[in-house]
Amino acid sequence: MANDGVRCSRRQFLRAAGILGAGSLLPAVAERVAHAAPKSDKEGLLVPTRAFGKTGVAVSTLGVGGMFDVPSNQIILHQALQWGVTYWDTATSYEGGNSEKGIGAFFTKNPDARKKVFLVTKANPNDPDGMTRLLNRSLERMNTTYIDLYFLHGISSIREMSDEMKTWAEKMKAVGKLRFFGFSAHSNMEECLLGAAKLGWIDGIMMAYNYRLMQSDKMRQAVDACAAAGIGLTAMKTQGGGQVRTESEAEIKLAGRFLQKGFTDRQAKLKAVWENPKIASICSQMPNITILMANVAAAMDRTSLSAEERALLQRYALDTASGYCAGCTRLCQTALSTPVPVGDVMRYLMYYHDYGDRDRARALFAELPTEMRSRLDRVDYSPAEERCPQRIAIGRLMREAGRVLA
Ligand code: SF4
Repeated sequence: MANDGVRCSRRQFLRAAGILGAGSLLPAVAERVAHAAPKSDKEGLLVPTRAFGKTGVAVSTLGVGGMFDVPSNQIILHQALQWGVTYWDTATSYEGGNSEKGIGAFFTKNPDARKKVFLVTKANPNDPDGMTRLLNRSLERMNTTYIDLYFLHGISSIREMSDEMKTWAEKMKAVGKLRFFGFSAHSNMEECLLGAAKLGWIDGIMMAYNYRLMQSDKMRQAVDACAAAGIGLTAMKTQGGGQVRTESEAEIKLAGRFLQKGFTDRQAKLKAVWENPKIASICSQMPNITILMANVAAAMDRTSLSAEERALLQRYALDTASGYCAGCTRLCQTALSTPVPVGDVMRYLMYYHDYGDRDRARALFAELPTEMRSRLDRVDYSPAEERCPQRIAIGRLMREAGRVLA
């Protein structure tokens, strides 16, 4: 599947860049993309591809995340395909099912597109029967007979990848409904990756991974172990957005330094992830053409971050650690006298503050049991705070969540 998408010319790309202007795609980046592009318009311009573990498939290094109103934004899928962004990620739950339905509408109108796309979806049912039911529904919604990569969605322990799940995946592969199988993880990623590398039957993983998380030795070991085991890795939450609304001096300084180099800081954060060749693709939420274009430009741009720029990101990660939840819920949640999904609530706060997606944050929060939501401000979080490696004021944030997400 390497670079076999619909091609667009260098001229088309730059014309589009001109429409958007410097707000999203800086002129210096656009210029570098122009030079990186093939000399002949006939040769086209596509984002690069990388091998996805030992699957034998090459995926686009940039993927479209489907957490947006896909039915009303078909232009994004069209344009993604034009630029070779052929890794498309969705989930049964996104937009109440409309994300999958929007992809289905696209394939119905563009039947030739299906074979160009590496289609990923995910679900989190209670048992294999539920998994089969949800898989069949996804196939129907997306008007396809197979899913390229199917994830058990949002695991927090490798124990969830049971023998039962393995047998189910093998059965679905045998009947042609799945090509590859694995899991996604926002919590305890390092432990899940290390466990997966030992299982021997996981094809792919999507995990939170960014310029903050990549700094830890344990994450480095986990990524190395998966690469050695031939597991394809997709990074998500690559912007490392935090739970605390910040407009700190460090943030402004960081953005300013990258602007001088011709990148936005958001593009630099993507590049920091791509610089690890063991990460096959980045799944990015790109709900409009402006963001898609800026990310495509970053994916095509061939300049590397300098040692100084990498150090700048590392310094920033350290300076702002207390505003970022690293997902190590095994530490904080087990310290509490009563169950509280600290990691989930932290993620909802991230959607609220960093993504600015208040509706999604509130909708997800509303799915928590009423009794659990009402107890958030009555729990003593001090034992959890003592264990938190990021030194997060967990109690303050849980109380804030109870206020702003209710
Ligand atoms: S609050 Fe702290 S301990 Fe809990 S998951 Fe986040 S970073 Fe880890």
